[in-house]
Amino acid sequence: MSRNRHTNNINTETFICSHCGGAVVPVKSGSRQRNHCQTCLYSLHVDLGKGGRRCGCRGEMEPIGVWVKPSGEWALIRRCAKCGFIRTNRIAADDNEVLLFTLAAKPLMMLPFPAEKTLEKIGE
Ligand SMILES: [Zn+2]
Ligand SMILES: [Zn+2]
Repeated sequence: MSRNRHTNNINTETFICSHCGGAVVPVKSGSRQRNHCQTCLYSLHVDLGKGGRRCGCRGEMEPIGVWVKPSGEWALIRRCAKCGFIRTNRIAADDNEVLLFTLAAKPLMMLPFPAEKTLEKIGE
């Protein structure tokens, strides 16, 4: 199954996640093709730039947070561990819910200011 590893930026077939080693299956519904692992939510920094030129970075894109669009749609924020490039992607229906939840809750669990006082301010 690893034979598709080099083409996973245009994947329409199953490939092996380079981060967790899990098999990544294509999204069955919708027109968007999966570019990330639904288990660990990592993807690779492979880009088709303007003119179809491939970006050669291929660093691991680490999921670092969740962005909720004004429409309520969730997007995942990923950062390339190699070059620091940050990108957002819509989440897929079968993405790891536990991981998404953890990412969304993390900033609230690690507040850089006292939660009690902030809640008081919100309540005012
Ligand atoms: Zn993975
Ligand atoms: Zn990169």
